[in-house]
Amino acid sequence: MRTCVVCRTAAPRGTFVRIVRDPEGRLFVDRLLKAPGRGAHVCYDRSCLEQSLRRKAYNRAFEGPVAPMEAEALVAAVVAAIDARIDDRLALARRAGQVRSGGQALSSLEGVAFLLLAEDAADDSAERLIGRARTAEIPWIRHGTAARLGEVLGKGRRIAAGLTDAAVAAALDLDFERRNRVLVAAGTGSR
Ligand SMILES: [Zn+2]
Repeated sequence: MRTCVVCRTAAPRGTFVRIVRDPEGRLFVDRLLKAPGRGAHVCYDRSCLEQSLRRKAYNRAFEGPVAPMEAEALVAAVVAAIDARIDDRLALARRAGQVRSGGQALSSLEGVAFLLLAEDAADDSAERLIGRARTAEIPWIRHGTAARLGEVLGKGRRIAAGLTDAAVAAALDLDFERRNRVLVAAGTGSR
């Protein structure tokens, strides 16, 4: 079990962002939870992230000085880590044959457990896919560009990807929930 350096919530380590410190005292997000040495844990939560810096929680956790960091930079680093994890999941799912992408492959959402739709997908295509997802009660989200989605899937531009594995779908659901909790406006610093 680990404990958030701000709110003291205790939970298994994968529940938290793990922050590590380099020899110069700079803070980094340990995305793969594998960096050696001491780590500090903080909730995937905008308020806990902001307060961790304001309350100097890392100086205490690491028992020494840490380089100053803006809350926005920490939030951006956590979001980048989540996005990289999402990309990894998509690439792995593709290799496992658990992704259908492109208009034809998604003309039916039969067997799709999670629908990812590019933010720059044309309105009519997006509306159609979202309508089908709603009817079939499939969770969906708009995220990234079609170029990026295609790149992650090792293809050309893709406006949508349907994930067919339930475990992958659940993991993506959690990734996006965390992403929202980190990006949500909390007092100052909204975007
Ligand atoms: Zn917390």
